[in-house]
Amino acid sequence: MRAAVLHEIGQDKLEVLDDVEAVGFGPGKVRIRVRATGLCHSDISAMNGVLPQPAPFIPGHEGAGEILDIGDGVTHLTPGQRVLLCWLPSCGTCPACKRGQTQLCLAGFMNAGTPNFKRPGGDVFGFAGTGTFTEEVVVDAGCAVPIPDDVPFDIAALIGCGVTTGLGAAINTAKVEAGSSVAVIGCGGVGISAIQGAKLQGAAQIIAVDPVESRREAALRFGATEAIAPDALADAKQRITAGEGFDYVFEVVGKSATARTAYETTRRGGTLCVVGAGALDDYLQLSMFELFFDEKRILPSMYGGGDVLTSYERTIALWRAGRVDLESLITHRVPLTGINEALEQMRTGAALRTCIEI
Ligand SMILES: [Zn+2]
Ligand SMILES: [Zn+2]
Repeated sequence: MRAAVLHEIGQDKLEVLDDVEAVGFGPGKVRIRVRATGLCHSDISAMNGVLPQPAPFIPGHEGAGEILDIGDGVTHLTPGQRVLLCWLPSCGTCPACKRGQTQLCLAGFMNAGTPNFKRPGGDVFGFAGTGTFTEEVVVDAGCAVPIPDDVPFDIAALIGCGVTTGLGAAINTAKVEAGSSVAVIGCGGVGISAIQGAKLQGAAQIIAVDPVESRREAALRFGATEAIAPDALADAKQRITAGEGFDYVFEVVGKSATARTAYETTRRGGTLCVVGAGALDDYLQLSMFELFFDEKRILPSMYGGGDVLTSYERTIALWRAGRVDLESLITHRVPLTGINEALEQMRTGAALRTCIEI
């Protein structure tokens, strides 16, 4: 079957091959025909080595499709069922799951070290234990989450990572209060979702910060009250908050430099919510004095910062009610053979989300 493979970490292009096989099917597993997948920034971060990932591998972790086969012991799914892919399946029994924090369950990461594809040259890994830039994938049954009939595959794919991450950061983690001031640094698919989340929560001011003009324009359509380039942020802080800083600042880039800027842009006693996925060796510097004296709350948010399945259900309910716009997040569409075009659209910031239709 056909799949897009990265041969070595550091390469910037994927090769679309037709000699790949999805392997590992058996008890507790399902085989899925992928229909749509989004390109998330984490895919690029895994390709360039910012996020740890063995190679060769098939990127993609934000997908949806149909169940082809179910392994022994899988009782909650049937062949033909429409599902979205969750890259962080919860085991249901570990302490994190029992506390309702399934976004912190580590069970899924055990699979990430086991190749779930192969080709004549040898084993091929799937990114984060999934790998959706492919026609078929074999995953743990817990990675397959049934979706209602009215949710199209392209929308379901977005809910599988970016939208859940951004909305959840504003709603679950930061718990943005009505009437507050918010700045969102980084306005791709996740940042725009954080903007929509802040709007839903009733924020009075939502300042979108991004170097790319098309993203700033998009942010305004999705609910930002103002959109600025990064070099205008210090001035905006002065003008909008009288120099005090914003009640909430979302860092949606995943770099210590932007996190430091975000910290400085947060008011004393305010909340810095860290959403971007950064590197193991990129350290954020804070002095012990400022940490104590300014009492700024630093709240990291992983995969929406709450129970993942609950976050999905809430997103679907909000989408169905017309309270969040997911359709407009998909600015580009390509077939699997157009994957390198999609990577370029992500790197230049031209796309909020490119949907790869398979
Ligand atoms: Zn667990
Ligand atoms: Zn993602």
